[in-house]
Amino acid sequence: MALILVVEDENAIAELIAINLRHAGFEVRLAADASSAQAAVDRELPDLVLLDWMLPGQSGVELARRWRAASRTRELPLIMLTARAEEADKITGLDAGADDYLSKPFSTKELLARIRAVLRRRAPEALDAAVEISGLKLDPATHRVTRRVADQVIEVKIGPTEYRLLHFLMTHPERVHSRAQLLDRVWGDHVFIEERTVDVHVKRLREALSPVQGAALVETVRGAGYRLTQQQGTLVA
Ligand code: CA
Repeated sequence: MALILVVEDENAIAELIAINLRHAGFEVRLAADASSAQAAVDRELPDLVLLDWMLPGQSGVELARRWRAASRTRELPLIMLTARAEEADKITGLDAGADDYLSKPFSTKELLARIRAVLRRRAPEALDAAVEISGLKLDPATHRVTRRVADQVIEVKIGPTEYRLLHFLMTHPERVHSRAQLLDRVWGDHVFIEERTVDVHVKRLREALSPVQGAALVETVRGAGYRLTQQQGTLVA
């Protein structure tokens, strides 16, 4: 379930957004100004932030700029909310690093569509859509991993950490991820564990995939990290 931080000082609007997001299956945290938003992000990195432009004290635009300048929040998916519908304001918001921009008033339908679009682009692992690569299928709704080998669908027995690792790799295929990046994105960014741990779980993931001839899907890129890649050739029973 994706975690969304709503930064909005008008309580009635914040509550309404929160109710609608929870109803749509998101987990929601609220912050009413820039400093409590910063505190919330320091505690736990959300999957996406809805950031109101006009906040008491530091504005949403200033906060967006600050987050984009910090390594921990550089990639944080961000949608700006604003009552200002001027073209110049929109450009300022996007220049400050927002992924998208929504003018008030907006419908819940539009808000949800924008959130899903940004998550699909920036953090697809936060969505519950099934992913499939080279016949290997991972379905977050059922938590099942299967692969069609010859004419049979075989279920992959997989531990919870290897599942999360596979989900992340499958939603960001063909890209090389360093061990540090995988720790941040799969284990959580406040977890202080050794990079060697990643190697242990990659090994376990390959072992889990080997009964469905999928160990080769997870490639080691020397000196760089790991990558999930398409597998050539046909599988034999
Ligand atoms: Ca406001």
